[in-house]
Amino acid sequence: MENEFDIKELVDSPHVVVNGIKIGGFIAELCPKCNNSSIYSDHYDAHFCVYCDIWLETQCGDSACEICANRPESPLIAFKIVKLPTVG
Ligand SMILES: [Zn+2]
Ligand SMILES: [Zn+2]
Repeated sequence: MENEFDIKELVDSPHVVVNGIKIGGFIAELCPKCNNSSIYSDHYDAHFCVYCDIWLETQCGDSACEICANRPESPLIAFKIVKLPTVG
């Protein structure tokens, strides 16, 4: 489980890189379920946890909101993040 995600925050731009995928946002508070850092996505205006593969906010409830309507259930799918192979 330890090696599945390589998460880095860029110093020169407001992006987080997860397994080589660049995501607009920043590393945020700990996930309440697994205690790993969550990531805030500018695009979806929501926090998510790659370890749990969940969004930490429900959708905004506005049925006309295209961002929520197009937000996949899985953040890994939303950002096309592929898990790294575990070693050992
Ligand atoms: Zn989590
Ligand atoms: Zn919305």
